[in-house]
Amino acid sequence: MLGQMMTAPLLISSLVAHAERYHGGTEIVSVNTSEGRETTSWGEVGRNARRLASALHGLGLKPQARCATIAWNNRRHLEIYFGTSGGGFVCHTINPRLFPEQLVYIINHAEDEVIFLDSTFVPLIAAIRDRLTTVKHIVLLEASVGDAATALPGIIAYDVLLADGDVAYDWPAFDEQTASSLCYTSGTTGNPKGVLFSHRSTVLHSMALNLKDAGAFSAMDIVLPVVPMFHVNAWGSPYACAMVGAQMVLPGPNLDGASLLDLIDQYNVSVALGVPTIWLGLLNELRTSGRTLKNLQKTIVGGSACPPSMIEAFREEFGVETIHAWGMTEMSPVGTVNQPLARHSDMPIEDQHRLRELQGRPVWGVEMKIVDEEGNALPEDGKATGELLVRGHYTLDAYLHMTEDETLEGGWFNTGDVASIDPDGYLSIKDRSKDIIKSGGEWISSVDLENIAIAHPGLADAAVIGVPHPKWDERPVLVAVKAAETDLSEDEILAIFEGKVAHWQVPDAVVFTDVLPRNATGKVLKRNLREDHRDLLQS
Ligand code: AMP
Repeated sequence: MLGQMMTAPLLISSLVAHAERYHGGTEIVSVNTSEGRETTSWGEVGRNARRLASALHGLGLKPQARCATIAWNNRRHLEIYFGTSGGGFVCHTINPRLFPEQLVYIINHAEDEVIFLDSTFVPLIAAIRDRLTTVKHIVLLEASVGDAATALPGIIAYDVLLADGDVAYDWPAFDEQTASSLCYTSGTTGNPKGVLFSHRSTVLHSMALNLKDAGAFSAMDIVLPVVPMFHVNAWGSPYACAMVGAQMVLPGPNLDGASLLDLIDQYNVSVALGVPTIWLGLLNELRTSGRTLKNLQKTIVGGSACPPSMIEAFREEFGVETIHAWGMTEMSPVGTVNQPLARHSDMPIEDQHRLRELQGRPVWGVEMKIVDEEGNALPEDGKATGELLVRGHYTLDAYLHMTEDETLEGGWFNTGDVASIDPDGYLSIKDRSKDIIKSGGEWISSVDLENIAIAHPGLADAAVIGVPHPKWDERPVLVAVKAAETDLSEDEILAIFEGKVAHWQVPDAVVFTDVLPRNATGKVLKRNLREDHRDLLQS
C-alpha cells in the first residue's frame, strides 16, 4: 500500500461538534414562540443536541426512527436538527401550512414516532391526533407543557425531556449513507413525496453551499434564515453555518417586513436568505418607514424567480447585493447560485447587472442538461429552451418508498422546469413545464411576463397563466393584484408590456383578484387559476 488518509464518515454530528468545540462562544439569537427573544450559543446548542440524542435513546427509539418537527425557526428547532440526526434518527421537518389531510398522510407515510411541536401548532395536531397511527411521543418546544396537556394528553415539555439527557453523550459513528433527514415536496397535485437526505449528501451540500462561489457563509457572518426550517432545511443553512461557526439569527414566527427589519438592525445581520415574497414585505417596510439597511451585505433569494426589479431595488436604494439562486427539495436544495466570473468585470455595468438576474451557474456537485421532448440533449447556447435534468452528489436517487426507476429518467432527475443554459452554465428558468404557455407553436415564458408586471408600482402581485384559445391553442392572461390605493385599468396594465416583449407575447387579458392562491411553500397555484379562467378566451 502506498499510504492513505483516514476514513471518517461524513456525519452531521461532525458539523455541530465542530461548532461546539471551535465556535462555542458564537451567539445564536432566537425569537421563541412564547418566550420573547433569547441569546444562546453554538456551545449550548451542541450540548443540548447531545442531551436530546441521549434522551431519545432513553425513550427507546431505534436507529432511523423518524422524529417530526412542526416548528418555526428557533434554537430548540436547531438543537433538534443536530440531536436527532446526530443520534442516528431521522429529522422529518413538516410544513405546518399543509392541509390536515396532507399532514395525516405524510406523518403516517413517514411512520413518525415523535413529533416536536411549537405551541402555535398544538390545535393543528390535536385535531388529527387520533388518526396518527405511529406517533408515540409528542414534545412541546417550551419549558413546560401548560395548557397544551389538555389538548394533547401525554405531551411532554422539551426542556423536561432534555433534563433527562446526558451532556457527556458521545456522538455515535455509523455509515455516512445513513438517512439523516426527510422533507416532503409540496406538490400541487397528488400526494406529497418524501425526499430522504443522507449524512453524506448533507455534509457535501454544506461544503458546496459554503464555497465562495455559492453562499459563502463564514465565521465573520451573522446569518438570518428567513426561509423556514421546514422548507428544505432552511436551504441547508443551519448545517452550513455550523460547519463554519457563523452566527445565526432565527426569526421565529413573525416574518413581516417590520419584524425582520428590527432583527436585521438590532443584531447586525450580514446575510439573509428567503423567497421573493418575503423581500417584497421588507422593501415595502423600508420605503414606508424611511429606514435603511446598515450592515446587511447580501440577500440570497430563491424558491421562485427573483424579479429583476427587486435585485435593482436592493442594489440601488439600499446598497445590498442580491444573490439569485435556484434549486429544489430533491437537490438538497441548492442547484445554481448567481456569482460572477472574473472576466465579467470587463463588461459594461448594465450587462453585468443583467447577468445577475439569471438563476446562476451550478455549484460543485451539480450537473445539468436540457433536453427536447424526445429526451435529446439541446445546445447550451443561452437560447435553446428545454426540460431541465440534473444529477449529482446531493440530488435525489429515489423518493421514500419508491424505486430509482420510478424517480429518475436514465440516471437523471427531471426537475419539471423549462430552462436555457448558456456556455458558462448560467441557467435561465423560463417556467415550470406545466406552466409554460404554448401559443401558436411558440413558447411564452410566464416568468418573463410576471417580472415585467411585478416591477410596476401599481401592481402588488401578479401571475401569468396560459388560457385555452380557439385559434392559438393558448394565450397568456395576467392575473393581477392591484397595489393599495392604485386603480390601473386593464389597458393601462397591458401597456406596461409594450416594447418590453414581442407584440405576440403581450397577455390577451387582465383579470383582477384580491389575492393569488398559493401552496404551502408559497408558490402560486397556477393550476387553480387556469381552472378558474379556462373559458375566458373562448368567445
Ligand atoms: P421546492 O422543491 O418546493 O423548493 O420547489 C422547487 C421549484 O421551485 C423549482 O423546480 C422551480 O420551479 C422553483 N424555483 C426555485 N428557485 C427558483 C428560481 N430562482 N427561479 C425560478 N424558479 C425557482
